[in-house]
Amino acid sequence: MTRPPRVSFEFFPPKSIEASFRLWETLGVLAPLAPEFVSVTYGAGGTTRTLTHDAVKTIHANYGVQVAAHLTCVDATRAETLAIAESYAAAGVTQIVALRGDPPKGQGRFTPHPDGFADSIALIAALAETGKFHLRVGAYPDPHPEAGSMQDCVDYLKRKIDAGASSAITQFFFEAETFFRFRDACAAAGIHAPIIPGILPINSWTGVRKFAQSCGTAIPAWLDEAYDKAIRDGREQLLSTALATELCTDLIAGGVEDLHFYTLNAPDLTRDVCAALGVMPKVALSEVA
Ligand code: FAD
Repeated sequence: MTRPPRVSFEFFPPKSIEASFRLWETLGVLAPLAPEFVSVTYGAGGTTRTLTHDAVKTIHANYGVQVAAHLTCVDATRAETLAIAESYAAAGVTQIVALRGDPPKGQGRFTPHPDGFADSIALIAALAETGKFHLRVGAYPDPHPEAGSMQDCVDYLKRKIDAGASSAITQFFFEAETFFRFRDACAAAGIHAPIIPGILPINSWTGVRKFAQSCGTAIPAWLDEAYDKAIRDGREQLLSTALATELCTDLIAGGVEDLHFYTLNAPDLTRDVCAALGVMPKVALSEVA
C-alpha cells in the first residue's frame, strides 16, 4: 500500500454572502484533511483584489492552515502590486502564487499596465527580492495557449524558477502521461523545484470542457464518450469521482507525492477523491474552525 499523498486545495474568493457561506462550509469539510496549504485565486483581470485579500486573511487567522495568496500583474502598477504583497507579509501570510494573469474578459491579449510588471518573471523577481515569500508559480503540461509548444512552457518555467520561484503548480490536465512527459522535460531542462500536479475534479463536464478549450487543455476523445454515456445515465458525479481518483492513483504510482485540487468551492468531489486515496480527516472540525 502506497502512502497517501500530501494535498492542497484552491478556492476562489466569495463575491456574495451566500458564496461566503459556501466557502466556509467547503473549508469546514476540507481543512480537517490537514492540507499542506490552501490557495485563494485572484479574479481574472484583477477583479477580486480586495475580496482575495480579505478571504486570505480570514482563512489564515481562523483555520490553522498555511494560505498561499494568488497575485497577478493585471491592471495594477508595480507599487500597487508590491503593496498588496507587503500587506500579506504584515498579516503573516508568506506564500504567494505569482502569476502574470489573464486579461479582463473581452480584452484579448495581456497588455501590461504602463507602470506595471511586464510578465510573471518580472513579478517573481521583485517578490523574491523582498526575501519575504515562498513563491509558487503556474506551469503548463498541455501548452499554454500563448506558447508554441510544451518545450516553450518548460523553458519559461525554468526562467521563473531562476527568477526566484520555489515550486510550481500545474494547470489541470486529463491524462497522467501528459504530466509525466512535462515532468521529464523539466528535469531534462535542469528544473529541480517541485512541480505539483493540479487536479480538477469534474463537477460539470459541459462547463469543464468549455474551460479546458479556453486553457488549451487537450480533451481526449474517450473522455467525451464516457461523459456522453454517464450524463445520459445520470451518473456524471460517479464517473467524475472515479476518473479523478484514477488520475491521482496513476500519478502517485509514477512517483507523485503532492496533489493540488481545484475545488471550485464545492467540497464533495474533492473530499471523496481524497478519501479514496487514503487522505482522511486528521483533526476535529472544532479544532480548525
Ligand atoms: P506564464 O508562465 O507567465 O506564461 C504562460 C506561458 O506563456 C509560458 O509558459 C510561455 O510559454 C508563454 N509566455 C508568457 N509570457 C511570455 C514571454 N514574455 N516570453 C515568452 N513566452 C511567454 N489567473 C488569474 O487571473 N487569477 C488566478 O488566481 C490564477 N491562478 C492560477 C493558478 C494556477 C496554478 C495556474 C496554472 C493558472 C492560474 N491562473 C490564474 C491563470 C493564469 O493567470 C493564466 O494562465 C495566464 O495566461 C498565465 O499566467 P502565468 O503566470 O501562469 O503564465
